[in-house]
Amino acid sequence: MTRIYEELGVRPLINAAGTQTRFGGAPLPGEVVAAMAEASTACVRMEELQEAAGRVIAEITGAEAGYVTSGAAAGITLGVAACLAGLDVTRMDRLPDTTGMPDEVIVQRAHRNAYDHAVRAAGARFVEVGYLGYPGAGGTHPWQIEAAITERTAAIYWAVIEARGVVPLEEVCRVAHRHDKPVVVDASAALPPADNLRRFIAAGADLVSFSGGKAIMGPQASGILCGRRDLIGSVLLQNQDQDVHPETWSYRARFLDSGLLPGPPHQGLGRGFKVGKEEIAGLVTALRAYARRDHSADRARWDRLIQAVIDGIADLPGVRGRYLGSDSPTVPRARLDLNEAALGFSAFDAIGRLLAGEPRVAVSESAAREGALVINPLCVRDDDEAALIGRLRAVLRSTG
Ligand SMILES: *Cc1c(COP(=O)(O)O)cnc(C)c1O
Repeated sequence: MTRIYEELGVRPLINAAGTQTRFGGAPLPGEVVAAMAEASTACVRMEELQEAAGRVIAEITGAEAGYVTSGAAAGITLGVAACLAGLDVTRMDRLPDTTGMPDEVIVQRAHRNAYDHAVRAAGARFVEVGYLGYPGAGGTHPWQIEAAITERTAAIYWAVIEARGVVPLEEVCRVAHRHDKPVVVDASAALPPADNLRRFIAAGADLVSFSGGKAIMGPQASGILCGRRDLIGSVLLQNQDQDVHPETWSYRARFLDSGLLPGPPHQGLGRGFKVGKEEIAGLVTALRAYARRDHSADRARWDRLIQAVIDGIADLPGVRGRYLGSDSPTVPRARLDLNEAALGFSAFDAIGRLLAGEPRVAVSESAAREGALVINPLCVRDDDEAALIGRLRAVLRSTG
């Protein structure tokens, strides 16, 4: 099955960490792999393939238009580039240098996160509003956002992350649209629940970026950008291969004959985020499968797996397992709290040993500093279960 890894001397791992990019994301469903393999055997006009995929994305998300990106981070950079340049070829040509164009992106302080580099990568500058601390849990007021909007504003950024006291998306969109400014949403990891595929667009967002390689179980280097047709138009111009002559350009009628552009832009900011036909085929297949999936069956499978892990280590001294997320629509997890003093090793030590052993096991490090391992079932295959529990037992058995 994994002969290629063996041949390269690379050991595969059991992924109990979730769809983390550094562990290769998810093992892909057979139908996704089949679609990618099939797509790889024939050449196509990529703009036509993107348009077809965009129609599927638009239908499933309820957005005007959709686009396949090389990941949610790429989608955010492309989306912000679209807000900066619009349909202006000279601006497209200039990015990420934003001289002469509005380049401020307003962000609530509680929404700043390590992935927001994707916004700045387009050339935009953040303008922060709101509080982090006192009073109470901090928070932003809608008037703070409104007061920050000026002629220099290019967009407002909103992230689907744990953040207390932020102004809800609906309200941000109302404020932004009063001033004719677009709202760009990072919804990378916002699935499940599946209805989030439509929720942010329904709330008024102008562009929403999802990962294709997280819960959708598409190719790891894929993502979905959905939203306003004009902004997606700017994205395609800045992302697709533009080694074109005006005379034969497939978008001649749409962009040149219509008078929208004086000429095609060439190899813009997003050229490095190219998406292959295989990723597009795989993403569309995965997205369709996700949209019609039995999500309660997924939930039941995850619950059973987590319970098996908790039961499987229940007799180990110094280790206490509990179920996380019973009241949440996101992926449930098991949290294994270690009595580090009694065990004689730390959660970080255990994580290192799990990754070094055979088979390798990756667990989530999200609570490692609190002395706990977190088991995320999303990428654990059914036939990994026995080996996963066996390795956890071997590593967590007290050495003292
Ligand atoms: C995972 C993640 C990203 C990056 O998504 P990719 O599809 O890997 O590019 C961006 N933002 C947040 C909040 C994420 O969790």
